[in-house]
Amino acid sequence: MNLKYGRESLVNNLVRAGHLRTHPVIRAFMSVPRETFVLKEYRDYAYRDEPLPTGWGQTISAPHMVAIMTELLAPKKTDRVLEIGAGSGYQAAILSKLVREVLTVELDPRLAQLARTNLKAAGVTNVRVIAGDGWEGYPEEAPYDKIIVTCATPEFPPALPKQLKDGGIMLAPLGGSSVQMLTKAEKASGILKSRNEGKCVFVPLRRRDASEAPS
Ligand code: SAH
Repeated sequence: MNLKYGRESLVNNLVRAGHLRTHPVIRAFMSVPRETFVLKEYRDYAYRDEPLPTGWGQTISAPHMVAIMTELLAPKKTDRVLEIGAGSGYQAAILSKLVREVLTVELDPRLAQLARTNLKAAGVTNVRVIAGDGWEGYPEEAPYDKIIVTCATPEFPPALPKQLKDGGIMLAPLGGSSVQMLTKAEKASGILKSRNEGKCVFVPLRRRDASEAPS
């Protein structure tokens, strides 16, 4: 399928389904080539609304999930955003069009390198990919206006709340390995208030020194 046509028709479907809701986010989806972030053998499927393998057992999220999470973050031009789980770099690329800077932490150094290569190929210059364990967040550059976790974890990694600015938003798929609840937490006067935003399925957060996050 023609990729430009595929992108337009995917975006139209995401708008119609109510997943894409605001003009800047719609423009971001129109300007980021998803085909650059999927493996060569899956290019023809780049504009299907499905997760696809990125290699090394991980996946690039389905476009509707990227749309839902991006809208929930309410990105602003001045924001600095921390992402846990760079994967292909696609979610970070979408955010890069909407905020000042994205720092994205990736546990697997091979995927961190893949994300850097993909972001460069897409001409994105305001995303920094850090190879490391996102369970600890990235205190070096904290605090952040927004934090987005794109791997499943039983709870928000305990290091994250103090790396989030007051008034900030944090988003994560919370739950076990088969299904999670997309959870949005807002920090006001130092207190986090969480709400459920619907079921989702992500690959699990793993620890550098163990197989999975503690449950
Ligand atoms: N946001 C990605 C999709 C994420 S898939 C995209 O747009 O393509 C989840 C990613 O989280 C995987 O790449 C996995 O390696 C990574 N991951 C798992 N545990 C992690 C951890 N503790 N710290 C950082 N990244 C982690």
